[in-house]
Amino acid sequence: MRYISTRGQAPALSFEEAMLSGLARDGGLYVPETVPVMSRDDIRALHGLSYEETAFRVMRPFVGDSFTDETFGDLIAKAYAGFGHGARAPLVQLAPGHFLLELFHGPTLAFKDFAMQLIGQLFEEALTRRGEHVTIVGATSGDTGSAAIEAFKGLDAVDVFILFPHGRVSEVQRRQMTTPGEANVHALAVDGHFDDCQARLKDMFNDFAFRDEVRLAGVNSINWARVLAQVVYYFSAAVSLGAPDRTVSFTVPTGNFGDIFAGYIAKKMGLPIDRLVIATNQNDILHRCLSSGAYRKGEVIPSISPSMDIQISSNFERALFDAYGRDGGAVAQLMEELKEGGFGVSQGALQALREHFESGRASEEETLATIARAHATMGELLCPHSAVGVKVADEHRTAATPMITLATAHPAKFPDAVEQASGIRPALPERMAGLFDREERVTRVANDLTALETLIRERLAK
Ligand SMILES: *Cc1c(COP(=O)(O)O)cnc(C)c1O
Repeated sequence: MRYISTRGQAPALSFEEAMLSGLARDGGLYVPETVPVMSRDDIRALHGLSYEETAFRVMRPFVGDSFTDETFGDLIAKAYAGFGHGARAPLVQLAPGHFLLELFHGPTLAFKDFAMQLIGQLFEEALTRRGEHVTIVGATSGDTGSAAIEAFKGLDAVDVFILFPHGRVSEVQRRQMTTPGEANVHALAVDGHFDDCQARLKDMFNDFAFRDEVRLAGVNSINWARVLAQVVYYFSAAVSLGAPDRTVSFTVPTGNFGDIFAGYIAKKMGLPIDRLVIATNQNDILHRCLSSGAYRKGEVIPSISPSMDIQISSNFERALFDAYGRDGGAVAQLMEELKEGGFGVSQGALQALREHFESGRASEEETLATIARAHATMGELLCPHSAVGVKVADEHRTAATPMITLATAHPAKFPDAVEQASGIRPALPERMAGLFDREERVTRVANDLTALETLIRERLAK
């Protein structure tokens, strides 16, 4: 199994190499050269298996000879052992024909744990075998950073630096990043927005001298291994509702397009998925693009679902690559136009996208109203991101096909919005007690590439 860049100018890599490098050197994202297909019998055979066993069977063909069967199985087991629910990704019924896939039972209470816990294990194994050390730098609007710190803290083969926008993450999110005491964890509060953090991260990757000097590695959702880990729960959920003998649809609260792209891969692998519905908040570039064909960035408007406050959806590039018939030159051209503000998707490509994806958006008021309604009528407390999904799902579901909405975070991660809507302040799970008592460790830093690189060099020298 080899991985190629969406911009067509970087060498093809193995699974392990693509995972360790993150972003391709031509600025593109890695995708598998071909997507392996599971037969209906293969899918039927997943019935009744544990989450871990399903994960092994779904991901195995993508990994090639980067890990042996035995090692890969062991690492999967370790990755999910710390989850607070035996099913890992339980499915609960919201209404006839509407289900909620709870992806918030991991250590940091958001779906990011599914991928991050696994790649923590895969990185440690691969780097120890190679005798190498890498510097992971990540940008976060909140959830990615805490999930990465939780997954990589205390590992010998990595230092992890997380850039988050100072004053713009929730207190729970901040404390999850600033309270781990391990020496290889570095939480950096940047004076700027999330988009500034992401831009500085990209600058670091494009500073090839620095990139090679510190052996920079990326774990943002553009890392293929993260997308792959997320493919698994589309299978486990669909199979538990009767796939392959029943077709299902999914609605996914979407920001960087990583999670829903995993659903698209599941569909390409043969999972019978009717529709993949993109749910956005008021930062609706993807919804506007699917509706009009124009992909044009605007200003980020802060919302109560901050993990989706994004104007450039990085993983959308992977969907465009397929929609343009895997023409890397065409994708590179679009990304050049994006630097100037945006681009128009060609008629053919737009049609190709609409064959798989639908879209909708939820305003702030609609999100709050959905939290209130879900609590009053179904007894379910939704986080604001999941509420965006439920609202859009209700507009798109049909009687013929069950709809599965992804619940991407635990309501206790966003207690203010949930309390405002429902009157109930959700409590953190037992296992996270103490978060508010632990000492915080964080470094404030300017929104400046040189300042950041200098700080990272100094820390690594210690
Ligand atoms: C990251 C995140 C999202 C968006 O996921 P993408 O893969 O970026 O589309 C949605 N909800 C929550 C809670 C998140 O943390």
